[in-house]
Amino acid sequence: MKPDTDGAREVLEHGPAVDWPRYECTFCRYRSDEKSATCPRCGAFGYTERATAQGLRRAAAAVFLLAAVIILGFGVETTVEVFAHKARVDSWIFWFGVYGLGLLFLAGGVSAMFGRLWLMRFFMTAAAGRGAPRRKPR
Ligand SMILES: [Zn+2]
Repeated sequence: MKPDTDGAREVLEHGPAVDWPRYECTFCRYRSDEKSATCPRCGAFGYTERATAQGLRRAAAAVFLLAAVIILGFGVETTVEVFAHKARVDSWIFWFGVYGLGLLFLAGGVSAMFGRLWLMRFFMTAAAGRGAPRRKPR
């Protein structure tokens, strides 16, 4: 292995970990040098180079917080308009949806900042169709 400055910085940041595993799971943070498309421990997609995994976590936090700001902003704006009698909302489901979704993204974004990616995992699970009955081979 050729020496690289990135490796040296890692050692400084994380203590004397000369053989720091190269790959990391974005979700459960399982680490190893073994290359794999999915995490060997939790089976999630997003088992990748350490820096990428960290980047993904930061990106997820940013995206969720942005979504929360937009949704809650829309909710507050609508609330103000309703109180000013400029708009009318007939269903409580609207409030439940807007504030529920906004708070969900806010909670997901804040947790993602602390490395807890349950919201992103939920979306990826939904997207990958995991948990759904497996299709029978033709
Ligand atoms: Zn994992």
